[in-house]
Amino acid sequence: MDKPQRKRTSGIIVRRNDWRESSRIVTLCTRDLGVVSALAKGAHRPKSPFLGAIDLLHVVDAKLSIHPLRSLQRLYSADVIQGNRPFRHDRQRRDLAFRLTKNILLAMPEGRPDPPLFDLFRGGLRLLGASPRPKLELISLGIDLRYLQILGVLPPPEVCPLCEKNLPKTGDVGFLAQAGGFIHRHEGGRPISARLPLFARDLLATPGRNLPGFRAPPTLVRDLADLVQELISNL
Ligand SMILES: [Zn+2]
Repeated sequence: MDKPQRKRTSGIIVRRNDWRESSRIVTLCTRDLGVVSALAKGAHRPKSPFLGAIDLLHVVDAKLSIHPLRSLQRLYSADVIQGNRPFRHDRQRRDLAFRLTKNILLAMPEGRPDPPLFDLFRGGLRLLGASPRPKLELISLGIDLRYLQILGVLPPPEVCPLCEKNLPKTGDVGFLAQAGGFIHRHEGGRPISARLPLFARDLLATPGRNLPGFRAPPTLVRDLADLVQELISNL
């Protein structure tokens, strides 16, 4: 059972380092194997099969040799299936993509696959790369909410996790990160608009591909984004 096995999986390149003169060590976030570090031998050679494929945030179809007892695996080939071009010359898109990468890696320790989280990562990169610029904050907010939901730390936003009753639709509710987010005003936290948990609920109910068409006032987006960042930094 300790023989290396050939595996094929889609993966996102999240780190790369030079190794000796002509090779590279690549860290891939993969759908089926979790986060994997692998040696790409000869990646710097002019006729390398990896030419142009080993670049941050490329989504690749990867062929690996996995040895269960080793921490460094072998990468045999990588074919780009979703390129990183949108992030190369666009600071805002790149910053959002790197922030997503950081969040995903925090929640996915090496060698522990998490297909829903991988799918969020890949779909998130696609949206951040292709959506109109004025929609990027909203898209990023939608991705972050799903991230918390996949981690299992976000109760349904319209329900108070303390008393399990629905929150009011008007006036104020309370916000308490330690309680998972939105609670009744009289139960503590700091007062925020009752529109915010409803907005979070609506965003979560919207499929990713429809997020770019979702209309919301910028102030609402910003206010909810601040709360969601607080929930993420509280993880
Ligand atoms: Zn309550």
